[in-house]
Amino acid sequence: MREATQSELDTIRSEVRAWLEANWNPAWRNQAVDGPNRITWLTRVVEARWAAPRWPVEWFGRGWDDARGRVVESEFARVGAFGTGQDRTNLWSNTVLTFGTKTLKEQLIGGLLRGEINMCLLYSEAGAGSDLAGVRTRAEKSGDEWVVNGQKVWTSRAKIADYGMLIARTNWDVPKHKGLSFFFLPMKQAGVEIRPLRQITNESEFNEVFLTDARAPAANLLSREGDGWRVLVTALAYERSVMGESARGPRSGAAVERKQGEAEFVALAREADRLDQPEMRQRIAQVTALRRLNDLNSARAKAEIAQGSSSSIMSLGKLAMSRILHEEARLRTDLLGAQSLLEGPDHPRAEDANFLSLNAYFTSIGGGTDQIQQNIISERVLGLPKEPEVDRDVPFREVRGG
Ligand SMILES: Cc1cc2nc3c(=O)[nH]c(=O)nc-3n(C[C@H](O)[C@H](O)[C@H](O)COP(=O)(O)OP(=O)(O)OC[C@H]3O[C@@H](n4cnc5c(N)ncnc54)[C@H](O)[C@@H]3O)c2cc1C
Repeated sequence: MREATQSELDTIRSEVRAWLEANWNPAWRNQAVDGPNRITWLTRVVEARWAAPRWPVEWFGRGWDDARGRVVESEFARVGAFGTGQDRTNLWSNTVLTFGTKTLKEQLIGGLLRGEINMCLLYSEAGAGSDLAGVRTRAEKSGDEWVVNGQKVWTSRAKIADYGMLIARTNWDVPKHKGLSFFFLPMKQAGVEIRPLRQITNESEFNEVFLTDARAPAANLLSREGDGWRVLVTALAYERSVMGESARGPRSGAAVERKQGEAEFVALAREADRLDQPEMRQRIAQVTALRRLNDLNSARAKAEIAQGSSSSIMSLGKLAMSRILHEEARLRTDLLGAQSLLEGPDHPRAEDANFLSLNAYFTSIGGGTDQIQQNIISERVLGLPKEPEVDRDVPFREVRGG
């Protein structure tokens, strides 16, 4: 697409601004995840073609380039509205758009953009977490369907999911990366049994999922049989990109008036009467600098990643976010001092500090651990020698596994 002139960008800015003034209600600001008006708002955004402006017109977009898309995002961000930029951030619909059959696209993309369809990731298994190419869940073709048997674990949101993005083995006679296929598996069926697990935060979001003759229609195979690793690597890059940019905030919602970044830490330090302590000031400055650097890196990664490709740079952002979250949690705890030992609704500051300390592990383990991100960065960004992999070229049937 031709590069936009400044005056074209200004026209887009005015159009988005006017639309937001007519449609956006600032009271919906905090409903991006689960507010009652979320789907109503997202539907409006999709109908106005702001949800994914860089996508083709055929698929809810406007066929715009990145510069035009960014204008829309900056106008939404200016008023605190959500729902645009899904052409970069919506892991599920990006995966379908890039690799899905036309049937699957028609069936799912609209609902995914509008937030009507719930999804989960059926990747990890007891013997295949960091080494995801070692999965042993099998999918076998039977007429117009795939029949799936196996067991997944740590599956977040499985209980509410309509579909799971599933990586399964379809060929045992080729090396491990080559025998995998990727599916959208309908979750609400008899062959899918979900057993909740409890996290360290005392929440129960993730689960074990047992698949016994579960069925996926042929149209729900992404790309082609045996190409699952490529689909998975692309989907993981999207996931890491999102995890590198955002994470859950405090759970209580009652703590210091919700402010962004350093403003919140300054407010906490003032409240604890520690704003004049040089060490605390330095640590606030440090987490602020880390956040800003990560934002810049993330913007660079997004500029590099083209639709449907994967970028190892996403691992940098995710690793950085993991460090930032742990560091911020430590700072929060230290600012509170002995008060951080308290818990419960009467002590929302301490409740937040403790929750965020524990929840920081979500980013350092989920979506691939910090160590795995370090491996990816060292091998694919810095060009250091690859880790030895004795089973890489062996037919998977001959690989020993538990
Ligand atoms: C909160 C949360 C939510 C999650 N949600 C989902 C989900 O929705 N769907 C899903 O499929 N999975 C999910 N996971 C699982 C997550 O992706 C895995 O836990 C993660 O990939 C690690 O796999 P593992 O637990 O099997 O650990 P292992 O792979 O057994 O690793 C154990 C340790 O060894 C290290 N290690 C392993 N291999 C290497 C290596 N080559 N080099 C250096 N160190 C190595 C790891 O870094 C780790 O410290 C979730 C995890 C968490 C914590």
